[in-house]
Amino acid sequence: MSNPSIHSEKVLMNTYQRFPLRLVKGRGSYVWDEEGRKYLDYTSGIAACNLGHNPDSVNKKVKEQLDLLWHCSNLFEIPLQEQLAALLTENSIFDQVFFCNSGAEANEAAIKLAKKYAKDCGNPERTEIVTFYNSFHGRTGTTMAATGQEKIHRGFTPLTPGFRYLPFNDQQSLEEIHNGKTTAVLLELVQGEGGVNVAHPEWVRQLKQVCEENDILFIVDEVQTGIGRTGTLFAYEQFGVEPDIITLAKGLGSGFPVGAVLAKEKVAASFQPGTHGSTFGGNPLAMSAGMETIETILEGNILQEVKQKEKQLMADIIRLQQSYSRIKEIRGLGLLIGMELEGAASFIVEQLQKRNILVLTAGPNVVRILPPLTTTLDELALFIGQLEEILLEEVGR
Ligand SMILES: *Cc1c(COP(=O)(O)O)cnc(C)c1O
Repeated sequence: MSNPSIHSEKVLMNTYQRFPLRLVKGRGSYVWDEEGRKYLDYTSGIAACNLGHNPDSVNKKVKEQLDLLWHCSNLFEIPLQEQLAALLTENSIFDQVFFCNSGAEANEAAIKLAKKYAKDCGNPERTEIVTFYNSFHGRTGTTMAATGQEKIHRGFTPLTPGFRYLPFNDQQSLEEIHNGKTTAVLLELVQGEGGVNVAHPEWVRQLKQVCEENDILFIVDEVQTGIGRTGTLFAYEQFGVEPDIITLAKGLGSGFPVGAVLAKEKVAASFQPGTHGSTFGGNPLAMSAGMETIETILEGNILQEVKQKEKQLMADIIRLQQSYSRIKEIRGLGLLIGMELEGAASFIVEQLQKRNILVLTAGPNVVRILPPLTTTLDELALFIGQLEEILLEEVGR
């Protein structure tokens, strides 16, 4: 048992508005708190535990690796890194991989790569990267600046220069991408933190075309959408476009911290010894978690089942929407689903919590539902049943 006299607000910096839940164990779709209460976890550690908590295959592989080698410097060759990079490139359109430890770091690396690429191509005047309003790219100095949300910037000026924000899914934006200074566009195909906003495929295709015509790199932030979350290994596969670079993290290690940048060879070539690095990036423990995660996803029917579960969940919520006007809109891709409400989303999140179900918000009015990809149809039905009871109670009040 933890020492009850130590309260998180005393010894931890106050960076999160935390729920008063103290989680100590996870297995499959469930987590348990200190008192032994069991919760259906439809947050998946924010899209990190895509295979559920403590999946057998990854558990076994990481335990084996614990007995072999935890860490060694990137100044040595790390066979597991080569294996995971090969697995990622064989199952995508990319040629080379850089490993790091988080989503923000992956975006940092992608941004550095894009800047260096412009210089290497003899375009030193190209110093700007276009991102979009309501995006989220991380909390470091540079990825915070890349993030198109004022609330993330507040208090931290001066921001890293070189970012220009345009409206998401907006036709006019397409004309403003190329201004002679733009070296790259950085985009989420489904904006996660920013409200579960799905990019229109036609807009994405046009955006990609503008980039191609003007020698602008097309970077997709797949930190939240990658690793099967949307029903394909990577979300770009469903949009009919080929990015030059994608970034990964969250789901890549099933909860073990690991991030990655995947790039086409001509772009990746701009990283040379001395241009970028990370002490822990790609360490053997993280690589073993990543290897087994990707292999588990590719071996089974997990991806096909995500599409089936998406259909089921969407249909159920649309059915609820017909009876409860509180639900304004339902959107998402795969098992990254947002339910926009009339009024505060936090109320529904709290009510579900009282009924031992965990979900998140994405902005003030959107409930973000992130089941593990391995959730069952019975668990989905349990979730919908509880949601319906809450909505019914609200109406009766
Ligand atoms: C979570 C997230 C990040 C940041 O990842 P961290 O691991 O928290 O640094 C970046 N981009 C997107 C789209 C994310 O969802």
